[in-house]
Amino acid sequence: MKKLIFIISIALFCGSCHTEKKENVVVSTETNTENAEKKTVKMILDLDTGIDDAMALAYALADPQIELIGVVASYGNVTVDESIRNTLSILDMLNHKEVPVFRGADRALGEKETYSVSPIIRMIHGENGIGNTTVATSSRKMEEQDGVSFMIESAKKYGKGLYIVAVGPVTNLDAVIQKEPDFKNQVGKIVIMGGALIVEGNINHYAEANVFHDPVAANNFFVSGTPFTMVGLDITQRTNLTKSDTQKWRDLGTVSGKAYADMVDYYIDAYKISKPDLAGCALHDPLAVAVSVHPDLVKTLSLYMKVGTTKEDWGRTIGEYGKMNDPNPNVEVCVDVKVQEFVDLFKDTLTELFKKN
Ligand code: CA
Repeated sequence: MKKLIFIISIALFCGSCHTEKKENVVVSTETNTENAEKKTVKMILDLDTGIDDAMALAYALADPQIELIGVVASYGNVTVDESIRNTLSILDMLNHKEVPVFRGADRALGEKETYSVSPIIRMIHGENGIGNTTVATSSRKMEEQDGVSFMIESAKKYGKGLYIVAVGPVTNLDAVIQKEPDFKNQVGKIVIMGGALIVEGNINHYAEANVFHDPVAANNFFVSGTPFTMVGLDITQRTNLTKSDTQKWRDLGTVSGKAYADMVDYYIDAYKISKPDLAGCALHDPLAVAVSVHPDLVKTLSLYMKVGTTKEDWGRTIGEYGKMNDPNPNVEVCVDVKVQEFVDLFKDTLTELFKKN
């Protein structure tokens, strides 16, 4: 039946094709066709490719609904150049060399100093950002087009079929809406990993790391009226992966299974120092990707929000007091998550990917 539908659709989109050509296409691409039929979402990931970004990348490649059309790589867990290098190398390792990588921001909005990664971030993600594991360096290069214009161009091209999942500093998204104010009406969905509403931050009492890196840009984005889903520490810290989980990836005996097990084990060891109360590591970034295509995993609170930019509340994400009763708030803040359902989905999805690579 799927084969028949595909033949009909090829015929519709290729009116001048000869029948022989149509049949050749069907025979040679049946497996890809079945996969393509499930892919309902075109996605751009905005990463600062450390370890949980690498997990988010793997999840986006493996979820049957997602077609990853590009990655914008930025500063944050690593420098922008390290982010580009890590992203290209991981894409190659996972046999997705078709996914283009674009350069994102290299520092916070208006910042004059070159960004340098703090010692605590180096401790959590390793000197190379991916747990000091060795992943073969890609020979590919990033695209010449910059990441911000790629996002704007893609929203015009794919409209509501495009999802943006940003799991690094909010600098790129702010640049996008400054450059294209109508972006919010064009794109299908925006999900960010960032912020903390009902729990304390992971940088200080208030601030979560992604927002802390660029509160001014984040505030511009939060108060812009752009609809988005906030996947913050409120739910990400409830989702844990342990070394018994990574052992199953290691036991697959594949290159990617071992690399990811090494990477995440490093992350879990770092968590033992920074968050000794957690049994493993939190799945911050991959949860944001999963929530974008599986919204039933979470409960949300609709809220107008702002980000603190004063010395006292730098990076705090909180409700906008003056808009508490305004209709149609722009932020869906995730406040609860089906923990086991997500963790099982995540583990199983990545296991299938690592089996093949
Ligand atoms: Ca990240």
